[in-house]
Amino acid sequence: MIISGPAGSGKNTVAERLMEEFPNVERVLTSTSRPPRGQERDGADYNFLSPEEFEKKIKAGEFYEYAKIHERYYGTSKKSISDAFSKGGDLLLIIDVQGAKTWKKIAENNPELSGRLVTIFIVPPSLDELRSRLQGRGTETEAEIERRMKTAEDELLQTKYFDALIYSKSRDEDYAALKKIYMHAKIS
Ligand code: 5GP
Repeated sequence: MIISGPAGSGKNTVAERLMEEFPNVERVLTSTSRPPRGQERDGADYNFLSPEEFEKKIKAGEFYEYAKIHERYYGTSKKSISDAFSKGGDLLLIIDVQGAKTWKKIAENNPELSGRLVTIFIVPPSLDELRSRLQGRGTETEAEIERRMKTAEDELLQTKYFDALIYSKSRDEDYAALKKIYMHAKIS
């Protein structure tokens, strides 16, 4: 399962709740070349790499997909997938729209994945609400918020590529919507 959505859409919050309720949901730890923010820890939130280390791994073919977002690299390493896969649960990836599109292509050509991948996009109530959520969390500078707002506008034009959309309301409502999608995907 892939969850995408603009920064501030609440995707991490609903994903964490899903993992609490369903311990067999295994989050895939992705890699980034951006520095840790706030309380983030290497190995828990991301594999934090230097830009040079990241580029080396790209050249070595270590990623299934990677994207450059806000001038930083983000990517899903082959190792992170096999690590999560070996635990035997349902894999959850929280990545951007480019990454979700790449995974859809991978799934089309992979009999084991096709028909099993579910991509979800969380649509914020409005751009104004998104901005105030970003300002409220206080982890980005104004310039970074502006950059994320621009990315959000672009991402909102690409919702048609997703299997399911969650129109963000309250945290509880968003979680209920995600849980419904997850339960449905599990039984079908
Ligand atoms: P942030 O810097 O706010 O943690 O993340 C910025 C964006 O990168 C978010 O949309 C996040 O979901 C996305 N992201 C995180 N890991 C990956 C990844 O492995 N691949 C891709 N394509 N996007 C990622």
